[in-house]
Amino acid sequence: MASVATTIERIRTSADGATCAPELAAPPWTLDPVPGYGPGASMGDVIPVGAPRQGGLPEEYRQASSDELHERIVAARAALGERVVILGHFYQRDEVVQHADFVGDSFQLANAAKTRPGAEAIIFCGVHFMAETADILTRPDQAVILPNLAAGCSMADMADIDSVTECWEDLADLYGTEPDADGRVPVVPVTYMNSSAALKAFCGEHGGIVCTSSNAESVLEWAFERGQRVLFFPDQHLGRNTAKAMGVPLERMPMWNPRRPLGGNDEQTLLDAQVLLWHGFCSVHRRFTVDQIDRARADHPGARVIVHPECPMAVVDAADEAGSTDYIRKAIAAATEPTTFAIGTEVNMVNRLAAEFPQHTIFCLDPVICPCSTMYRIHPGYLAWVLEGLVRGELLNRITVPDDVAENARVALERMLAMKPKGSS
Ligand code: SF4
Repeated sequence: MASVATTIERIRTSADGATCAPELAAPPWTLDPVPGYGPGASMGDVIPVGAPRQGGLPEEYRQASSDELHERIVAARAALGERVVILGHFYQRDEVVQHADFVGDSFQLANAAKTRPGAEAIIFCGVHFMAETADILTRPDQAVILPNLAAGCSMADMADIDSVTECWEDLADLYGTEPDADGRVPVVPVTYMNSSAALKAFCGEHGGIVCTSSNAESVLEWAFERGQRVLFFPDQHLGRNTAKAMGVPLERMPMWNPRRPLGGNDEQTLLDAQVLLWHGFCSVHRRFTVDQIDRARADHPGARVIVHPECPMAVVDAADEAGSTDYIRKAIAAATEPTTFAIGTEVNMVNRLAAEFPQHTIFCLDPVICPCSTMYRIHPGYLAWVLEGLVRGELLNRITVPDDVAENARVALERMLAMKPKGSS
């Protein structure tokens, strides 16, 4: 990272209005007693009752300077050696990511953890559902640690097991449960990786499957072979963008709002549906607009606009390409000529790509610095705290998925893994 400003440095030195919340510059432990996602893109979202809360971070970590925390993390890592592996999500802040053994998207990281069989502890510098997935996919004797328990995901939290079960029961009343003449069941549930273990287990138990933003189209094909329609949660945008690209008409993709009877639909709409989209979204990707793309094209003629499929449909339609974080990274890495890239995904990742590929001009479409609120909750202070705990033999903030939930969730994940990969991204 050397001379390039980290995102937090940009936040601290930016002018008023250049960030979405001035509190972003403050350390996240000031938020530990406060229920909510904290400043950043998800700050307006409603945190569910019972979401994990982080206890107070000990004073010594709150008082330590950035340099001291850095040195303590390096020393604890050295003392633990191969016993620990640190995973850093693409959206994580730079001062944490620099300590990661692997950097990637949630599924890449869960799989990366498996390549270190000697590791007793996996520290997941991401959000809660990612740590759960790592726990499901790794050995029971490997402990998965989330440095700050308040690092949830507002999108994942928009679909909970109770609301999805209620929806499922309503749909069974309407569609029945018998397969049609072709053997296709009335509905196949599909959950995005960004969901709780309980929802992955729900899909495992009900003939459904998990998808990522890289394989959503192949997963929908898999589901259409087995079902007359799909219930897709929690991200409406990934569901809509993918199904639309596959030719599903918009009028056959009603939204299911869990706070309204029949999800806010009439029976006929539901009977005609091909994909039922849950009323969920990512507040980071929802910030991107067609106006931003128009401005980027006006200011940078010839710019290549790539956005994440969690962005609204109009944004995906206006972009040159849409793809997962892995797709975006590979597209930039593959460009042989100096290129201007206007990117629609989380700002930490975009800034890091700009530093990594200085031969290109790379910028975030959103002119306001507004990182993912929950990734932001993982600060080097929490990383130092959990690492030094391990050095003392203390397991802090372990994330454990109950065996019965893990077993069914694994079924849904394995269906995805058994699928023949299609396309790139
Ligand atoms: S970027 Fe969006 S989907 Fe990803 S962790 Fe943050 S809120 Fe969740």
